[in-house]
Amino acid sequence: MIDIKSMPYEQLKEYCISLGQKGFRADQLYDWMHVKLAESFDSMTNLPAAFRESLSQLCDYTCLTMEKRQISAIDGTQKYLFSLQDGQMIESVLMPYHHGNSVCISSQAGCRMGCRFCASTIGGLVRNLTPGEMLDQIYAITRITGQRVSNVVVMGTGEPLDNYENLLIFIKMLTDEHGLHISQRNLTVSTCGLAEKILALAEHRFQITLALSLHAATDEKRKQIMPVANKYSIDTLMDAVSEYHEKTGRRITFEYSLIAGVNDTDEDARLLTALAKKTGAHVNLIPVNPVTETGFLPPNKQEADVFKLKLEKNHINVTIRRSMGRDIDGACGQLRRKETANPARRSI
Ligand code: SAH
Repeated sequence: MIDIKSMPYEQLKEYCISLGQKGFRADQLYDWMHVKLAESFDSMTNLPAAFRESLSQLCDYTCLTMEKRQISAIDGTQKYLFSLQDGQMIESVLMPYHHGNSVCISSQAGCRMGCRFCASTIGGLVRNLTPGEMLDQIYAITRITGQRVSNVVVMGTGEPLDNYENLLIFIKMLTDEHGLHISQRNLTVSTCGLAEKILALAEHRFQITLALSLHAATDEKRKQIMPVANKYSIDTLMDAVSEYHEKTGRRITFEYSLIAGVNDTDEDARLLTALAKKTGAHVNLIPVNPVTETGFLPPNKQEADVFKLKLEKNHINVTIRRSMGRDIDGACGQLRRKETANPARRSI
């Protein structure tokens, strides 16, 4: 079966022509899938019935089923648990901001990177998501809420650069003028730091924001919390992100989850400052979200503010990320983790 929702515009055009259709049918079909966000071929009323019939025989039309939705009473964050056609569960988050709606999507079912503070990796990697399944998360949330999504962050479950080919197709399709046409500048891809893939991505010169999950300023510390640090040193990563910045002109973001007693000392602040200076990176501090299985705890608000101030004094551009949806399993992978660990809850 053909995964038609993962087909970029040009490819869809060739495919429709190969089925004996005129080119404009591909435009109509692409528009139904990626602008009107149709849920099935049946609803594509301006396509000939015979064409719809052959499509439904030849192609899979992926769609997500919403299994659960939690809405934060604190800040309006909406956390979604979706099931895919093979029954795998993924989660996505809608964060309403003054400047527009931001959606955080998953790129894999599970993750094999093994970061010690992260709930998404506990059950390992199940499979990559297709480009269509990444888009579907945005489409489903748009349909359910009836609101436009203006920003997308690939910061849910999974390591996007470990699903590199599908990520590239997703970026092209999300930002394509024939689809939702979200500006590349409004898309952020977050990685734990697969250096050669960062370099490969730089070659495309997309205007997307690259966020590097740094979380420690020395290799020794990073290795304690992120197994991927055994493969790529901080030096290698700094070279990779500097090249990304040079080739794309886009400023890098460092994500730094503050973990009490682990990476929040004076020395950590000093070394992080040096890395941010060297690369011109913006630093995003995220007090770690406690995950039952990990035992890591965040510093208190005052300690986090002090850490931030140390960077600011050295003219580093730094923010503390507002912890969104604290009352609804806000941290990465926690909702999916609960559902997977305790499938009986699904009947609720
Ligand atoms: N694999 C990618 C993207 C998914 S995780 C990456 O590593 O960047 C998105 C961000 O959330 C990463 O910075 C990740 O390290 C961070 N994160 C994961 N678990 C967290 C937790 N419990 N508390 C705070 N941040 C967490």
